[in-house]
Amino acid sequence: MNAEPKKPRLRLRVSPVAETQIRAGHPWVFAGSIRDQNRAAEPGELAVIYDRKDEFLAVGLFDPDSPIRVRILHAGKPRVIDSAWWKTQLEKAIERRRGLFDENTNGYRVINGESDGWPGLVLDRYDSTLVLKIYSDAWMSRLKEISGWIQSRLQPRQIVLRTSRNLERAGKHPEFPRDGELLFPKRGEKYPENPIIFLESGLRFEADVLRGQKTGFFLDQRENRRAVESLARGRTVLNAFSFSGGFSVYAARGGAISVTNLDISAHALASAKRNFDLNAATARCPHETIQANAFDWLGANDRRKFDLIILDPPSFAKRESERNKAIEAYEKLALLGLRHLSPGGILVACSCSAHVSAEELFDAVKRSAKKTGRRFDEFQTTRHAPDHPATFKEAEYLKAIYLKI
Ligand code: SAH
Repeated sequence: MNAEPKKPRLRLRVSPVAETQIRAGHPWVFAGSIRDQNRAAEPGELAVIYDRKDEFLAVGLFDPDSPIRVRILHAGKPRVIDSAWWKTQLEKAIERRRGLFDENTNGYRVINGESDGWPGLVLDRYDSTLVLKIYSDAWMSRLKEISGWIQSRLQPRQIVLRTSRNLERAGKHPEFPRDGELLFPKRGEKYPENPIIFLESGLRFEADVLRGQKTGFFLDQRENRRAVESLARGRTVLNAFSFSGGFSVYAARGGAISVTNLDISAHALASAKRNFDLNAATARCPHETIQANAFDWLGANDRRKFDLIILDPPSFAKRESERNKAIEAYEKLALLGLRHLSPGGILVACSCSAHVSAEELFDAVKRSAKKTGRRFDEFQTTRHAPDHPATFKEAEYLKAIYLKI
């Protein structure tokens, strides 16, 4: 039988604005910016983008189902995207993290999507397990190849696949692995042990790599958790939106008098209890859990005061149109938190909304602090951790401000 005829290369032309953005290093081309496409294409095909003068501009992964139609892999001089190129990209991500972690931290991000040159793909390490999460169907047809390189370079015990919920095709094609399946060692098998226990700054935590948000743990907050540990001595601590108690366990080891975990999810609070048990030897202090909507609880329990309050809510703005409403919500939440803060207390207010800038969050929190009429000192702000680099504006989601009252 004859092999299928080789398809002509997928060629695109884009709007002048998109051209400028690509030249400036932006990794996304939206469907609306595509002016010209020579043929229909499958998710994951390489698309070559040419500029107005018909010169090579960039090459990226095509995704017909996503508003982000092309995720740029390489822009500038023409280059072949072959296995040598991919292996170099992997090596660059590994090199970037060299020396960041010692043997006390075996949970961290190895590849952070676009900002590491792997658009729409994340790789997290939890001890000897790797979790590969994809946010675009474009990766499906390449998983076998990619997990092969990752396996031979990083030698994990297993690689688990997670797929973002909004993917159109992932899991629907019999040829491709599904969410929660192993990519290595036995492809297609269900991941056997869950949750997995890993180390962060010498503390033990569980990660629900099969069902948890992101890849099972908020690895992105490690640096803020470390900062909280250093501020906790002799303080009563409220960890609002605690999830599995990450901030709380650090605070306990840091010498907190007591810790309160507040979260709407019983599942998260049960995990927080287990995380305290896992660290009973080094992170010891009375700890309670309260299952409630944080806004309601903070609004209704004015008499409870704390010396250190952490507010780390989920994103309030999933899209740009929700930005103003989100800023108001951050302001309101900070005000609620400040009402519970004892004199000399510390407020740590975080946001993980990419649509809300760091300045917008910081200003909102400071407006609330001014409203209380109390004197305050903004003594620290933080952004992304070094294993979660953000190289373009849309990738900058995490920020936090520390106020002392
Ligand atoms: N600080 C955590 C991550 C927080 S994730 C860490 O470092 O690991 C956000 C958490 O907020 C989730 O656990 C979610 O269950 C919880 N949540 C969402 N809406 C809430 C609400 N209205 N009130 C209280 N908790 C809420």
